[in-house]
Amino acid sequence: MSPTSNALARLEAEVVACRRCPRLVAWREEVARTKRASFRDEEYWGRPVPGFGDPAGWLLIVGLAPAAHGANRTGRMFTGDRSGDWLYRALHRAGLATQPDSAYRDDGLRLNGAYITAGVRCAPPGNRPTPAERDACRPYLERELEALRAVRVVVALGGFAWANVLRILRDRGVWLPRPTPRFAHMAEVPIRNGSADGAPAEGAGATREGAWLIGSYHPSQQNTFTGKLTEEMFDAVWRRALELKG
Ligand code: SF4
Repeated sequence: MSPTSNALARLEAEVVACRRCPRLVAWREEVARTKRASFRDEEYWGRPVPGFGDPAGWLLIVGLAPAAHGANRTGRMFTGDRSGDWLYRALHRAGLATQPDSAYRDDGLRLNGAYITAGVRCAPPGNRPTPAERDACRPYLERELEALRAVRVVVALGGFAWANVLRILRDRGVWLPRPTPRFAHMAEVPIRNGSADGAPAEGAGATREGAWLIGSYHPSQQNTFTGKLTEEMFDAVWRRALELKG
């Protein structure tokens, strides 16, 4: 097992046992107990959802949090809901996923060159984690950013993920343009190792020289049903990521 795979396996074991956020622990477990009628015969995961994908990936995709009846049910990021259908279809079109569907944890799906995670690992009520919950979960994302040493491009799905990633990079001493770049679909930020005064930044992985951050609208139903995010717009994100990878 590679050092990255080792680090990610240790992280996964910690994540799935985490109970730091009492409100989210209560919610994820209640949803798992009460279930949606259409899934009443299924056993819900009902725990924190670990990252998923290629440990040697050059692309890191960061979402908001698991959906109550999606990843909180299946135990895999973006799996078992409409947002995931959109995401994996697009990744498959871009050659980054082996299949366009993502129904359950052991469905054979593999990612080529990509790794998917979220800023918060437990399903939050109304898809809205509190700032305290975001901060409690932040060390897990930081450790992924450090462990995934081949990452060249980070795609933030939505403004929450965008702000979360930028906050982590800034706090790690990574140079960022001033003022802090605002979230927009297809916004790009170069990630340069070292602060404005030339001091070297801590860590490696996605915080190193030559990486990029791209913003994308989140493939939530709110965006895809209204046409705010179309398949063409989403495809352009992965095309751009492939270009930046070089
Ligand atoms: Fe732990 Fe993150 Fe879940 Fe909070 S959101 S309980 S920190 S895994």
